[in-house]
Amino acid sequence: MTLTVVGSINIDHVIRLPQFPRPGETLTGSDYRIVPGGKGANQAVAAARAGAATRFIACVGDDALARSLVEGFAADGIDVSAIDRMTGINTGVALIQVNGEGENTISLAAGANGRLTPEQLNRHSAGLSCEQLLLQLEIPLDTNIAAAGQAKAQGARVVLNPAPAQALPDALLSLVDLITPNETEAERLTGIAVHDDAGAAAAARVLHAKGIATVIITLGARGVWLSEQGQGRVIPGFKVEAVDTTAAGDTFNGALLAALQQQQPLEQAVRFAQAAAALSVTRPGAQTSIPDKTEITALLE
Ligand code: ADP
Repeated sequence: MTLTVVGSINIDHVIRLPQFPRPGETLTGSDYRIVPGGKGANQAVAAARAGAATRFIACVGDDALARSLVEGFAADGIDVSAIDRMTGINTGVALIQVNGEGENTISLAAGANGRLTPEQLNRHSAGLSCEQLLLQLEIPLDTNIAAAGQAKAQGARVVLNPAPAQALPDALLSLVDLITPNETEAERLTGIAVHDDAGAAAAARVLHAKGIATVIITLGARGVWLSEQGQGRVIPGFKVEAVDTTAAGDTFNGALLAALQQQQPLEQAVRFAQAAAALSVTRPGAQTSIPDKTEITALLE
């Protein structure tokens, strides 16, 4: 077992609307679904479907949906032995609105994800003995710092998808080997707007200066800015008809680590991840939209 994801599990309530309601406005949507989500879960599912042996350290609540969520992860081939069921609290929830352009807004309640404390993590410290650790920001920050520290001390590559956007302490950033912000997250981390290549290069330089060897800024439909040791360039994405961009970044991250786990060189792994993410935006939902290795490979041929 060589890839460990530590992160969140959410139940997503997704409603499609012609446009986002303004404050005080009520709009009627066309479609409502309950689907599995959460950045940690989405990335674990994306990694597993893309072919990586994946262990997932996470917490769910004691609500009725939790059991079927975990069964779903197991059906995707994820090692679920470190997913704990917490009592007296709900599984995390995300309320997602998708507009006519396929853009989304998301409101979160952490629920059981907030119970994934450093003490809780310590029950599963064997799981941090891995080749790659993948983190996001929907669990307590102290837990991410503890996970990164323990995994790195055992020789793991520490990968951080710094989402949702927030400023981060050097205590975490200094432990990160590869970081994958989108444009908004890169700006929040560095104070530099990523509107063009010069902005991406400048933001990447700030992150390199924190000790992060590899910076990948995802640029939506444009692709990614890949920067190694300060040398950056755009790697264009795949042209597809976007229906719903929910989980594009999550799919990118999971598939990227799966490709790296399979010893693909970095740029080839980025192409693989972009193909996976492009497929995910052509379909509605979060985990429902994540492709498997066969589909990804077919798009790359
Ligand atoms: P996030 O979902 O975290 O905001 P991005 O929107 O930057 O992240 O998307 C992540 C990756 O998904 C991009 O780098 C790109 O490869 C792919 N992607 C996103 N949107 C599209 C799109 N409309 N068409 C094709 N690929 C896309």
